[in-house]
Amino acid sequence: MRDEIEGFKNCKSIAIMGGTFDPIHNGHLVTAEAVRHRFNVDKVVFIPTGRPAHKSQKQVTHNEHRYLMTVLATMRNENFEVSRIEIDRPGVTYTIDTIEELKSMCQPDVRLYFITGADAIHQIMSWKEPERLVSLCDFVAVTRPGYDRASLFGDIREIREKFASRIHFMEVPALAISSSDIRDRAKKGAPIKYLLPQTVEDYIHKFCLYHDTEKDEVKFMLDLEVMQEKLQSALSIKRYIHTMGVADEAERLAEIYGTQGDKQKARVAGLLHDCAKDFPIEVRDRFCKEYKVPMDVNMKKTTDLIHPFLGAEVARRDYLVGDEEILDAIRFHTTGRANMSLLEKIIYIADYIEPNREKFEGIEEARRLAYLDLDMAMKYILEETIEYVKSKGRELHPFSLEALEYYKDC
Ligand code: NAP
Repeated sequence: MRDEIEGFKNCKSIAIMGGTFDPIHNGHLVTAEAVRHRFNVDKVVFIPTGRPAHKSQKQVTHNEHRYLMTVLATMRNENFEVSRIEIDRPGVTYTIDTIEELKSMCQPDVRLYFITGADAIHQIMSWKEPERLVSLCDFVAVTRPGYDRASLFGDIREIREKFASRIHFMEVPALAISSSDIRDRAKKGAPIKYLLPQTVEDYIHKFCLYHDTEKDEVKFMLDLEVMQEKLQSALSIKRYIHTMGVADEAERLAEIYGTQGDKQKARVAGLLHDCAKDFPIEVRDRFCKEYKVPMDVNMKKTTDLIHPFLGAEVARRDYLVGDEEILDAIRFHTTGRANMSLLEKIIYIADYIEPNREKFEGIEEARRLAYLDLDMAMKYILEETIEYVKSKGRELHPFSLEALEYYKDC
């Protein structure tokens, strides 16, 4: 967030381009540039919507995809910025909260314009605190060619009467392009070239966005590089170094015991196994509620046990991992369980033996066993871990006892 504030905190006037951007297209970019010119604003800040009050989450593409497409589309224009304030804000998104948050980051006398499609403005009276909203910023309602302005004026009559000078209209011919048309075309395999920047088109094809076949679900995952960048900001330096060690170790084990596909999955599960571990307590509790993580008595008593279960949900929603095998490997990397999959065992073991861990008694034996026989390594590590947890006076999760019971005879 700090970097994005640097981009606009000293501006005298800012236009906020609010929208779903599913996907962003050339019509949006032309609109932003036209508004910048007409109202002589210093910057245009694109704010992809978070969880809009008026739409269910299922109707829109994942936040991270929409955010990254917006970054790709705007990165070559120094007057454009992209903000995560809506997509990072928990709960339902209201424009009034966005305007207030943005205002608090800027100079007190900053002049704000909120640009959005006239279709959205029709309902403005039903938005949260509409009058206060219009008193805080000007609105630029942009219309497609042939738009029926009279019906819009009818719908917003009440607010227009009071704030006429703060609501502006602009017809933008390039808005003949629409996101819904692009989605339909992509679904049918029709061309979308020249309707949006090439980088965004490449992104859509790479992640098979808008091609709703089940097979494509597997691809719904962030690039490993993007994943690493996100992790770097979510984890402490120490945890990030450990995470990279687990990913490398898991990949090595998968190379020996699994297939090429297992190797890739092992890297992803290794990278994400602790993705929720450094969350501050309030964030952890909030996400547990929002992502509906089932909380058993053991997790309530020993809060250290929450992060693997929450981590699996964070991996699913924020890192777009749809592969249940990877998610289970994250979910059971702390407790283990009986009859674990190859990937679950690999992550459990890699977490214990990764090369960046400080030396402790038993680690060398665990490393030796890991490259001899995975089940023997499981038995050894479970015994050592259970002893360690008991010696600290902490309670064990029943999954760990079931796991030991299962692996002790292997
Ligand atoms: P939307 O359904 O995505 O868009 C409605 C129409 O407006 C579509 O035709 C869309 O075209 C166009 N449009 C949207 N944003 C645009 C933009 N910046 N420039 C040009 N055309 C645009 O509407 P929405 O995105 O959900 O809502 C727009 C904004 O209003 C968002 O920032 C949202 O948070 C805010 N809003 C707030 C509240 C509230 O506070 N309660 C309620 C509703 C909306 P494309 O599909 O081609 O983009």
